[in-house]
Formats: sequence, structure tokens, C-alpha cells
Amino acid sequence: MTTLRDLPSVEQILQTQTAAELIADYGRPLTLTAIRSILDEIRARFKLNPQADLPSMDTILVQAESQLFNWIRPTLVPVINASGVILHTNLGRAPLSDATIRAMDSVSRTYSNLEYDLEKGMRGSRLSHAEFVLQRLTGAESAIIVNNNASAVLLVLSALANKKRVVISRSQLVEIGGGFRVPDVMKQSGAKLVEVGTTNKTHLSDYEQELQVAGTLVMRVHPSNFKVVGFTEEPELKEIVELAHKAGLFVVDDLGSGALLDTARYGLAHEPTVQESLAAGVDVVCFSGDKLLGGPQAGIIIGKKDLIDRIKKHPLARAVRADKACLAGVSATLLHYLKDEAEREIPILKMLSLSLKQIKGRAEAWTNELGQGQVVEGESTVGGGSLPGESMKTFLLSLTVKSPDKFLKKLRGQNPPIIARTENDKILFDPRTVLPGQEGALLVGLKNVFEEIQ
Ligand SMILES: *Cc1c(COP(=O)(O)O)cnc(C)c1O
Repeated sequence: MTTLRDLPSVEQILQTQTAAELIADYGRPLTLTAIRSILDEIRARFKLNPQADLPSMDTILVQAESQLFNWIRPTLVPVINASGVILHTNLGRAPLSDATIRAMDSVSRTYSNLEYDLEKGMRGSRLSHAEFVLQRLTGAESAIIVNNNASAVLLVLSALANKKRVVISRSQLVEIGGGFRVPDVMKQSGAKLVEVGTTNKTHLSDYEQELQVAGTLVMRVHPSNFKVVGFTEEPELKEIVELAHKAGLFVVDDLGSGALLDTARYGLAHEPTVQESLAAGVDVVCFSGDKLLGGPQAGIIIGKKDLIDRIKKHPLARAVRADKACLAGVSATLLHYLKDEAEREIPILKMLSLSLKQIKGRAEAWTNELGQGQVVEGESTVGGGSLPGESMKTFLLSLTVKSPDKFLKKLRGQNPPIIARTENDKILFDPRTVLPGQEGALLVGLKNVFEEIQ
């Protein structure tokens, strides 16, 4: 009769060649933990069912290896975005340009002059690096880069509006997502919210009344993820700024996406640009690094020097400061704009500027390669809290499958996982958001799924 004494001991297992290989790959402590946990499981199962056979040494090692593989497998991995949503927040927003990745890589590998002034041989400021490019690009007097735009808004309000009245239109009391709500952020910063106008209509005169009180600040939040249509009105930013400046007050503009190029050139609605805000006379503008800008996650704050200096000195600035990789990456992405090569180098701008002919050609090549599917017309969206309700014409690979949910799940199980979308029981793949370097992997993944489904 089999007893638990027949089970190999940890020591015996460790004598095997396979165990030595596992130790080389995964390290001794983790390998030991895995072997022990597999043996514990076997013992527990055996106690419940003493008639069963005990697994062989080989089986135990295979189980230990699979356990180890699962433990060390990274959970954050690259995926193929065939969804057609260019700035998909759940899929990590903007993929980066080669120069951006190189810049982030090189400052991470070695020491850098992050906070060291090479000229003077003494302590410098981490903010000086990207500041220069931002000044050149936008004409802003001063700049500071923080972790993301949500922290930028919190920092700006904490530094400039603590215990002050902040006048904002009711149409802009929005939730950005992930629980980031403008009224809550204001409360957090110590600002006193003063609402003017209504959800759909706010007049300049609504602001006028509230701007007579000293120690007030005007905030504009770009309604980046929804659209109010119909009977609506909002004064021009320039008019609000003039009114505020006349009363000796300043204006903060949370642009959200912060486009530097006019999105209208891609047949989309016009997303307000950073340059326009500054031209309207706004005192402090903040926007995201990884939305339409197409760079790494960051919050960029630019504006008048005296105000930016106050923001830089606020204790929260330290808490939300950007790291060296972010600063190097943002600078490298901004340089593409400065060198007028943004559309050629920044992946999301390349996606926006693809011609329909190019997209159709790629979708056709996919159907040819797969020997199935149809090329159909469809729509891509910008996503990522920019240009709500706007879409761009595209061509899609459309597959008719028996069980769409099962098919999508199998696609997600590929390496790299493939994210597609369904519409009317068809599986749709948008070439616009599939990076050229991932096309081969997409086709391999699709062929695998067809084989698995057979
Ligand atoms: C996206 C967005 C934010 C938040 O920016 P993150 O970079 O995601 O932190 C803040 N305000 C507006 C208007 C936005 O669209």
C-alpha cells in the first residue's frame, strides 16, 4: 500500500538535475518554497483520498516549475491595442517615441545631473531640464512638471487658492474619472468653491458679479470627457481673463489633454491648445503628458513666473514631483514638437495622421494573410479624456465567429494579449491603433486562436 513515506523528500527532489535548473532560474529560496508548497498540497490531497497514487518525482517537478513560473510572471505586460481607441486609459494611454524611450533609458541606467548644475558644480534644480523646452515651445515664462495632471490641479489650487474663493462655471464641475472630481479636489486644496452660471449656460455677467471680491481666483476646467449639446453658452476664455485681470485676479486653466497641435487637421473637432490658453492671457495652465501630447505620464504646469515660483515652493510640490525618467521622457517628447517632427515621431500623432488608404491597405493585408475576414468601414476614437463624441473614419478587419465572447477571451490569452472590440457579434480589429512593430504578433495570435477554436 502507498503511504506518505513513499513521497520524495525535499532533499531528494533537490538532488535532481531539474531542481538544479530551477534553482538557477528562480533562485534557491523561491524554488524551495515552491517544492514545499507542492508537497504540502500532495499530502493534504492524500489524506482526503489515501487510495490515490502519489505523483512521481517528475510530476512534482513539473508542478513546482509551473508554480514558480506563475509566481514570477510579470502582471503588467505589453498588449496589442486593436480596439481603435488611440488614448486608451486602461491600456496605458500614449505609447512613446523611440527618442523618448532612449532618453528615459539613458538617464535610468547611469547617474545623471538631475539636480546638479554642471556649469557651477553645485546643486541644481530638477525642474530646469524640461522647463527650457517648454519655454521655447509655448512662450510661457516658467514651468513645473509633476506626477500627473490630477496632482498638477491639486498642487496649483493648494498653492494659489488655499482659503481663497475659486470661481468656476457650474458646467465645469466635472468628474474626470477614477473618482477625480473638481469640487472634491477644490475642497482638498482648501479652496472655497464659488459656482456661477448653470449646467448648460454661463454668461460673462455671471462671472462679473463674483469677481468683485478680493482674494478670488478664476478656474476653468476643460470639459474633456463629455459634451453638452443644444441650448448652451460659455463666454470666451479671453473675455473671462480680461474680466479677471481688470479686477486684479488671476485665472487657472485645467486643459486636461493639452494639445500642442490643432486636432482639426485630422478631421476632428478643435481641442483647445496650450498656446491658445496662454494667448488668451491665462496665468497658469496645466495639462497631461500622456494624453494628446503623446509622452509619458506627467502633469505639466506652465505660466507666469511669480505664480509658478509659488507653486514650486509649496510642500505638495515635493510630494508629487516627477522622477528623472519622466523628466527626460517629457523633454524628449516636447523636443519633437520643437523640431517640427512630432507627426513623424510621436506614435499617437502618427496614428491620428494615418490616411484611410494606408489603414485600408493594412486591413486588406491582414485578411489576405489570415485567409478570412472582411474589410469594413468603421470608426476610431481618440479616447483618454479628449474629444468626446468625436470619431475618425477607419477601416477594420471584421471576423464572424461562433462565440464572440469566447473568441475575445482567447485573444486576451495570447502573448502578447490582443484587445479587440465587438459590434453586432462581429470581432473588429482597427489597424490604426496596432503599432507597426506588433502586426506580426497580432497575426500569429489570431492564427493561434483559430487553431485553438477548431
Ligand atoms: C485627464 C484630465 C485630468 C487628469 O489628468 P491625469 O494626467 O490623468 O492625472 C484633469 N483634468 C482634466 C480636464 C482632464 O481631462
